[in-house]
Amino acid sequence: MADCIFCEIIAGRAPASIVYQDDTCLAFMDIHPLGRGHVLIVPLEHAVQLPELPDAQRTHLFRVAHHILDAQRALGWGKRGSHILLNDGPQANQMVPHIHVHIIPREKRDALPTLSRLFLHITGLMGRATARTSLDEQASALRQQLPEIIH
Ligand code: 5GP
Ligand code: ZN
Repeated sequence: MADCIFCEIIAGRAPASIVYQDDTCLAFMDIHPLGRGHVLIVPLEHAVQLPELPDAQRTHLFRVAHHILDAQRALGWGKRGSHILLNDGPQANQMVPHIHVHIIPREKRDALPTLSRLFLHITGLMGRATARTSLDEQASALRQQLPEIIH
């Protein structure tokens, strides 16, 4: 869909650090992460809110999200806890109108930096994007874990 940044990423016209792709969804690193290793999983088909997606695709999206969580944990990210989050609609602070599941690892004593990034996120200010090299390194580390996890 025109003007959708996630459709641009899916089409390969906008850069992204890709973690996983299959015939219905794509996972990539969030450019303004709320925690180290923050991943987004999106359906390939443009849809704004969950009820627009067929049931099988919704289920698959969360199945992949669970695999990404396992890969993060295998790397030691979010060992003490993670957010699995979907902002379904503008009233729920959805900024990008293309369905996406956030998997956000949390670390010990990260409350302050996470809260300040969350403030920037909710206000739409977002702050500085994380360097592509760092996102690529994280995506590569996650990709190496996934063959062990997804069968
Ligand atoms: P929402 O508030 O819609 O649930 O979250 C949208 C997320 O998309 C934010 O965490 C934001 O950092 C991320 N995001 C926005 N634009 C881009 C982009 O161009 N590339 C990537 N990788 N993430 C993006
Ligand atoms: Zn889209």
